[in-house]
Amino acid sequence: MANGLAHVDVGDIRRFNWMRNEKNELICGIERHEDKFVRASEFSGSDIESYCEKMQISELVKKAINLSVRLNVAKPDEERRLLHKDVPEIYRRYNNVVWPQTGSGIIKHIQTNDSPKVEVCTAKHVVFNDDEAKKTRCRLYYDSREHRKVVLTGATESASDLNNDWCKFLCDVDSQEIEQIKENLETFERELGNKKRKKMNRKRKVILISHPHGGYKYISMGDQIIEKNGIKYDTPSCKGCSGGYIIPVGYIDKGTYVHNGSNYQGDKRLYGYASGLIPVVKN
Ligand SMILES: [Zn+2]
Repeated sequence: MANGLAHVDVGDIRRFNWMRNEKNELICGIERHEDKFVRASEFSGSDIESYCEKMQISELVKKAINLSVRLNVAKPDEERRLLHKDVPEIYRRYNNVVWPQTGSGIIKHIQTNDSPKVEVCTAKHVVFNDDEAKKTRCRLYYDSREHRKVVLTGATESASDLNNDWCKFLCDVDSQEIEQIKENLETFERELGNKKRKKMNRKRKVILISHPHGGYKYISMGDQIIEKNGIKYDTPSCKGCSGGYIIPVGYIDKGTYVHNGSNYQGDKRLYGYASGLIPVVKN
């Protein structure tokens, strides 16, 4: 094909360089996605060690990759229509977008009583309430053409925070997959524990693991740019990245941050911003 699409597979980010919407507008302001994102399946420590200097954060990123998911939310719930006008505008954008919507998330907890369930953290504007959680499917390991297909089926919302734009929901998972996920989570937490014990450099970097435009899983990296009022950064992001796991290097808290959105002035992106801290589950 003349435009080169034949050489690019469906989840590859280069596909979105020239993709247009029904009004023939480019769907994204990023010209060369491949310069901004590293595919998770091709991620090597060297991509990040030079970037994060002596912080040796790459193992943590590799562990987090195995827990990060792509979300597909079938349709918006009516409750969004009833939102008061004081509620952040991001929750009302459902109106002029095409459903199903994609987003990103990360597994940070497993529930083992009765039938095993995993708990996924994402942005509340991605999965708004219990009804939307039930209509959400998560793909784990959606990293490349050769990925292993594992689907987590949304069951119930477990907690959320409207002002801080985060949501946690439980998903049913094939019992054959739970042991692997449990192992992924244990190795991740061990690595996170190691990082917490290390004295961190003051220089703040922000790493995002997400599924830009609903494609494969990608890593993007940038600097924290504003210190006040939450975590803001120049780390690249696109549609579909909302809810993706944020690693704010240098102050890894016990809780979780996810990507929320970007602030623009006209066409110029000023910064991306994270959710408020999602607290740790108390066992
Ligand atoms: Zn994009």
